[in-house]
Parts: sequence; structure tokens; C-alpha cells
Amino acid sequence: MKRCYLLITLLLAIQSFGQLSSSEIHLGLQKLGVTGTALYLAAHPDDENTRLISYLANEKKLRTGYLSLTRGDGGQNLIGSELGIELGLIRTQELLAARRIDGAEQFFTRAFDFGFSKSPDEAFDIWNKEKILHDAVWVIRKFKPDIIIARFPEDNRAGHGHHWASAIIAREAAIAAADPNKFPEQFQYGLQPWEVTRVLWNTFSFGRTSTISDDQFKIDVGQFNPLLGKGYGEISAESRSQHKSQGFGVPNSYGQAFEYFVTILGTAPEKELTDGVKLSWDALKYPSIEKAVQHLIAEFDHSNPSASVPGLTALYNQLQDARGKETDLRTKHILEQKAKETQNLILQASGIYAEAIADRQFAIPGDTVNIQLGFVNRGNASPTEVHFIHEGKAYPVTELSKKNIFQEIKLKYRIIESPEDTQPYWLKKPKAEGHFNLDNILLTGFPEEPDGRVKLKLSFGNTHLEYPVSLQYKYTDPVKGEIRQKMVYHPAIQIEVKHSVILTGTGRTPLPVVIRVIPADHYGEQELEFKFINGNNQIRIIRKANLRKNIPVEFSFNHHEIYNGKNSVRLVPEVNILNGKSKGYRQSVRIIRYDHIPDISYLKEGEIKLVKEEIKITDSKIAYIPGAGDAVMEALQAMGYQVALIAEADLQPNILKSYDVVITGIRAYNTNSWLLKYYDVLMDYVKNGGSLILQYNTTIPQELIKSSISPFPFFIGRGRVTEEDSPVNFLMPSHAVLNFPNKIQQQDFNGWVQERGLYFAQDFGNEFEAPLGMADKNEELQNGSLIIAKYGEGRFVYTGLAFFRQLPAGVPGAYKLLANIIALNKNGK
Ligand SMILES: [Zn+2]
Repeated sequence: MKRCYLLITLLLAIQSFGQLSSSEIHLGLQKLGVTGTALYLAAHPDDENTRLISYLANEKKLRTGYLSLTRGDGGQNLIGSELGIELGLIRTQELLAARRIDGAEQFFTRAFDFGFSKSPDEAFDIWNKEKILHDAVWVIRKFKPDIIIARFPEDNRAGHGHHWASAIIAREAAIAAADPNKFPEQFQYGLQPWEVTRVLWNTFSFGRTSTISDDQFKIDVGQFNPLLGKGYGEISAESRSQHKSQGFGVPNSYGQAFEYFVTILGTAPEKELTDGVKLSWDALKYPSIEKAVQHLIAEFDHSNPSASVPGLTALYNQLQDARGKETDLRTKHILEQKAKETQNLILQASGIYAEAIADRQFAIPGDTVNIQLGFVNRGNASPTEVHFIHEGKAYPVTELSKKNIFQEIKLKYRIIESPEDTQPYWLKKPKAEGHFNLDNILLTGFPEEPDGRVKLKLSFGNTHLEYPVSLQYKYTDPVKGEIRQKMVYHPAIQIEVKHSVILTGTGRTPLPVVIRVIPADHYGEQELEFKFINGNNQIRIIRKANLRKNIPVEFSFNHHEIYNGKNSVRLVPEVNILNGKSKGYRQSVRIIRYDHIPDISYLKEGEIKLVKEEIKITDSKIAYIPGAGDAVMEALQAMGYQVALIAEADLQPNILKSYDVVITGIRAYNTNSWLLKYYDVLMDYVKNGGSLILQYNTTIPQELIKSSISPFPFFIGRGRVTEEDSPVNFLMPSHAVLNFPNKIQQQDFNGWVQERGLYFAQDFGNEFEAPLGMADKNEELQNGSLIIAKYGEGRFVYTGLAFFRQLPAGVPGAYKLLANIIALNKNGK
């Protein structure tokens, strides 16, 4: 039990950030004097009110956190093609970037953002409510907020089932956290019951929904912070603009701005959100600490912050001594937290800089890596001893009297870690449908696992302080300048599956099963054992190859070789080197790179979905205009169609006429503004017999209305059906789209993933046929998921059906329906 408690304390240790300026250190000193904590709570990255958070953290100087139930995995991606957990990885980093700007901390629960949800009941069913409540209670018991601020109300004004659910979690978790009978298993990890002073709802005005009223408690949060040189309307805009994958750049705002609140639990505030909370050391009956903090603030020298180091070190010891004797839970926690903040300020005020630089970004087990530990004391503080600690070994900095001289310690390190060690912690175990599974409960709530591979230990006499130093690789980009990335571990052999869906029943030659093996080292001539695993069954195939370092080798198999069953199946491929040493390798490395966030690298198991159903296709030649990024074109190739990727220059009548069908990728009109210029070209193409199939676009920008994309007017609405198993009605059972070349039946709508569709068509006239009707539970039937119009000799189709999700998941019915949509101008002409 003791060991667990120690571990949690270690993980709570502050991470060292970049060097703060004197005025930021000054603000940090002021925060040492404020003993209150606020937690903002909502469902997604971007739900948080960055203006209020900036104000709480920097004006009220409260320790401030944002608990987002999900990592935003289920949204759309405006900057690239990553979806699902990859989008969640990106948004995790965007939230961390936002928090570095607004000064708050970031937390998550295990909830997986499975996409739009209309009710909290659906959200809780899929997430597993108890697990999400457990995590929220854990974060509350650990972070110990005095106030919790929910973004949303517990009704349909929340606008999204996840939002509504987050309001329920805010209230229920606040109550459960205080109850010693709720989640008592958490107490063995050093947590205790925790009672918050109040829970508030921060009302809002979004678009047409306003939940603000004059009788609500309000505060002005638009102040200017001279220490930061910015107002909260500016800090907030900078923070919010980090949500780049959602395209949420927002303008600065200046001057007075009010936020409004409704009390959910506890007494209503009258003057401040924190009314009734003990916010000073005097109030906590520690006048000597109050005096020490005020003295540090008064004496702070902006041109020589390191003069504060002895005072800060004395305060650190005072806080630690008091913590040892204190019996009140809240006061003890504040003493501990303030000791950590003081420890961080000692490093910042000293001007000491330390780094740990590896000679590569990616290393494999067994590699010998050169690591350079760098240290420089740029101020006037005089630590008595300085050590780096790596793998339990101490490396002393010997020339301590040298000021402002960069000193290096070089070491060689043979990697014993496994690639799993740097896998994002919530992806180490397979995920359930609605939540991630953690292999280490102590990481509950963390945005990512802290990097504790290297530590810097500073000693000032008998005071010993340890700081984590991230192990990084650095290089210089001629345009962007110096870039640093965390060093991560990769497997010695990666395996990639070239085509993850293989259709064997289209009457065309199926794609081969291609496995690409990428060795990270030289293995020479080897016998390789491939396994294709299907639950407890597997097929083994031996192949020979010459494995040279970093040279991919492709192995091709016929689908009959790897599976001999009749039904569709999901297979996991594995490869072994038969030299007696190797274990099975199943993973490839995915690297996600964007300029606004650090590189993301994670391990992904390969899979092959063999779809054995009969899917009839026509001899249609297809042109594909990519949109925001989807894998639909690859799916069309897997079906056996001839598909060409076309660009703006190809939108000419004589080029288009060589294709039977033109399909636009998801949100093509949103991402390619030039498409609107080719309205006449595309309409003429349809009139002359072509088929134009638009996958969903969103309603923004406004030009995307009425006739600018279609021969006949319709609107793109916000209609969507989010229950992937909702019943589907055949409104026009004899329509070609349900009969040719595939007979579509109810079972073709089984096994869909995440949702039926989104951004359905609405307000369309009689020129359009709408063969499908569908609805979520307790909602009205919607008929805009697929609309078809005959125009001249051809067909115009708009569909919000989520083919971009179903096809990569290998859903046979979605393939059949798409084949029928493609066949529309081949039938009944
Ligand atoms: Zn949201």
C-alpha cells in the first residue's frame, strides 16, 4: 500500500517547462499566496471556456484544471485525414498546447468519443457510466477542487448527448467524491473522500441558443494582466486557436466581458465564485507562511530573480515541515501542492537550464544510444550539488562554480525498454467500444504519461530537489529552426498491411494480401514465419527473405492461403524470424506530424478484413475528387473499379466524359473552394449522362446552399442519425438503388460502425427521390441521407451516409449500396 502511495506522489511531480520570464515568475510567486482550486468540466477538447480559465488561473490565481471526459476522437479533422484514436491523439496535444498558454492543467477520463450522440443515455450506455464516473471522481479526489464549473446544463440545451452527460457527471462525481462508500477501492492508492464547496454551471450563448439571463450571478473576466502583457480575451483567443484540427481560430477580444453562472450544488456565490473558500495562508492559520510568501513577492528583483532562490528554498522546507505535521486533509494537500510549485519556482528563478538529448528520435530495443546531458547555470544561485540521474545512476556536474558556461556529460546507453513503454498509455491495451482500458490505474486522468527517464537533482545544502528532464532528440530545420521531439522506442521489426480490406466476392480479381516487413536492423538471409490469426485459429506460412536494415520487403499471399473458411473474417498478421530469438511482431509505427504540436508516434496492430460476401459491381470508370481526407478511393479500388484521382485541372468536359461517375470525397466543397467555379462543367457532365455523387459536406461556408452544387435546389442540414444500429426503412423498395446490381436487404444495414450518417439533405423538391428513411430512437424519420435526381441523361446524388467510416471497417452492406449508387446511370437509361 505504501509503495502505491509513493508512486502516485512521484507521478504528481511537476514537469519542467521552458524558462519563464521575470514577470511570469513574479506571477508564480503571487500564486503561491492563493490557496484555492477550480476545475472546469465538459465533454470534448474545445468545450472549455478558455477566457474563464485564463481569468481563474491568472487573475484569481487559482490552481485551475480542465477535465475533458473525452479526447475528441469522434470529430471531423479539418487539417488532415486522421480520424478516431489518431484524432484523439492530435486533440490531446492541442489541449496541452492550449493549457501551456492559459496556465491551467489538463485531465481526461477513459471515455472514447464515439461521435455525435443525441442523448446522455446513449453516451452512458456506450461509455460505461460507472467507469467514467470512477475516473471523474478520481480526478476530483486527486486534484481536490474547491469549485467545479460545468460547461453544460442537464437538458437538451446542451446540444449533444456527451455535453448533457458531462453535466450529469459534474454533479454526480462531486457528490460521489465526498462519499466514503463510493469507489472505496481508490483509497488504497492514497486518495481520500473530497468535498467540493460548490458546483456551478457556466451558462452560455452559442448561435441561437442562449442560456444566459440577467438574474444569474455574473463576473467580469475581461481584465488586462500587466505581468503577462495581455488581457484574458487575448490569452483566451491564443489558447483556443490551438484547436487547429477543428479550425477554431478566434479573434482577440479586449475589455470588459461577463461570464454568468447558475448554482448546481452548494450555496450560491454572492461576491466571488470562491465565496466561503479559504484562499490565503492566514485563513488556513499559517501566518508565518503568509509572511514568507509576501516577503518573497515584495523583495522580488526582476533583474535578478535568482536572488529569490534562498528565500524560496526556505519556504519549500517550511511547507514540507508543515505538511508533515498537518492533519486537515485540504490544508495538507495545499501545503504539498505549494511545495511543488515552490520547487518549480526555485528552478525558474535560478535560471538553471538542463536538457537530455539523444542522438535519434526513434530507437529500438538493443540499440546503443548516445545521450548528452547539458547543464548551464545562467543566474546567481549556488546549488551545492548537481546530478543528473538516469537508470538509477547519478552523473554529477562537477564544475559548479562556473556560471553561464554550458557543460555536457556524455553517456552511452543500451536500450532495454520495450516499444510499449512509450506507447500512449491509453492505447497500451485494446480499447472497448466506448472506453479505453488502462494497464496502470495510477495514470487515470493524466493527459499523457510523464517522461521520467532522466532527472536533474539540485541540492542546496540539505534541500534536495528532483526535476524530470524529457529525453529528446533535436535537429535544425532550415526554415523552422531548432526542433525537439521526445525520443520514443520502436519495434525491431514492423509489419504493415498494404490493403486492410480485401473483397473476394466482386467477380473481379481480389487484391492480393500484401504484408510489408520493415526490419530496423540487418538480419541477412532468414526464414520468416507468418501467422494469420483468427481468434484461436491460425495459419502458418514460411517464406525466405534477405532482411536489410530499413529496407522494406513485401510478401504477397493469395487470400485462400491465409484463410480457408467461408464467412467474412478479421485476421491479425504476425511475423517471426525463425532464428530462435525473435518474438512475434504485429505492429507498425504510425507517426503523425503537424507544426503546432509535437510529433505523435504510436504502435498499431495490423489487420486484414476478408469480406467474402457477393458484391456485384458494374463496369463503371470512376473519377475521384478528394476532400478533407478519406479512404473511399482505396475501397473503390479494392472493389475492382477503375478509379482515377482527379484535380482542378481535370475538370474539363473532354476529360470528364471519359468517366462514368465522378465522386467527391467528404467535405470536398468545404476544403476545395475552387470546386464551386466548376458548377457548369459538372452540371453539363451530368446532363450528358454522367453520375455525380457528392459525399457529405458541412453547412459552412454559407455559399454551399441551394443550386451551387446541384442541378436542383436543396439545403445541407444538420440532420444526422447517430445510432449505427437504428432501423432503416426502404421508402422506395423498387428503386434501382435498392435492387441493381445488388438486392439490398435489411441485413445490409447490420454491422455499421459509429453512425448511419451526417449532414443530411433537407428542403429538397420533387426532382429528388429519397429511397431511405432512418431515425434515432424517439425521433422523427429522416429521408435526407441519400437523395437522387435525374438530370438530363445522368444522375446527381447527395449522400450523408457515412461510407467513409463503413468501407474501411469492411461493412459488406455499405459496399453493396455504394456499388448500386455507382450503377445508377448504367440502369434504366
Ligand atoms: Zn463538445
